[in-house]
Formats: sequence, structure tokens, C-alpha cells
Amino acid sequence: MRTSSVEQLILSLLSEQQGHLSSPQVFEALRISLPALNMSTIYRALERLAAAGKVSISDMGTGTLVYELAMPARHHHLVCQQCGKETILDDDTVSSFFTRVQNDYGFKVSTNHLILFGVCRQCQSNPS
Ligand SMILES: [Zn+2]
Ligand SMILES: [Zn+2]
Repeated sequence: MRTSSVEQLILSLLSEQQGHLSSPQVFEALRISLPALNMSTIYRALERLAAAGKVSISDMGTGTLVYELAMPARHHHLVCQQCGKETILDDDTVSSFFTRVQNDYGFKVSTNHLILFGVCRQCQSNPS
């Protein structure tokens, strides 16, 4: 199997995604079209994509590393701790907060990928 085609499949999988995927999730999704695939092939492909700057790696606070398509723009995520739903948080909301931090504390924030944990609207209205 050509490793370059695995990388292509990962990139198209991540581009269909609105959030992040962990390496086991990438593996499960790609195994459907590539039954001979193994986990170390996925890891190596993800590492190469990250090294090439095509994929970004984040720690979602769960100890699991997650992967997403490298986005040129600053963006942030809201992650529901009950259902796992991820929502992209617009940078406008966050940058006004960062500007306040800079004004009040003289601290220039370089974080460009903020992940906030909580409970989404849907889970708040249907407590399980
Ligand atoms: Zn992200
Ligand atoms: Zn939720």
C-alpha cells in the first residue's frame, strides 16, 4: 500500500470533519476502505502530515491527542463533556477577550487554539 495514499485519505477524512479526530477514530474510518491498514501506518502518516504542517495536533485535555486539518486562521473549540460534540468558536469572540488581557495585564497572548470544556445547549436541556 502506498503511504502517500493513506495520507491523502486522512486529509480528505479530516476535511469532512468539523472538529478533531483521535488516531483510533481515523483508523476506524479508514479501515472501511483499506482493510489491510494497521495502526502504526496511521501513526506514521499522521506524524508526516504534522511535520509537513498539513495537520495540527492538540491535546483535548483527555490525554488523547487529536488531529485536525491545519487551519490558517486562529480558531477555537467548545467541547461538550457529556456528548463529545465540538463546536468551532469564532475568533472574534476570543480575540476581544485576548485584547482585554493585553490591555489589563500587558500580556500578549500567543495562544491560537483555545479549547473550552463544558456542557452543550442540547445536553443542558436533556439531562441524562
Ligand atoms: Zn482546532
Ligand atoms: Zn452535549
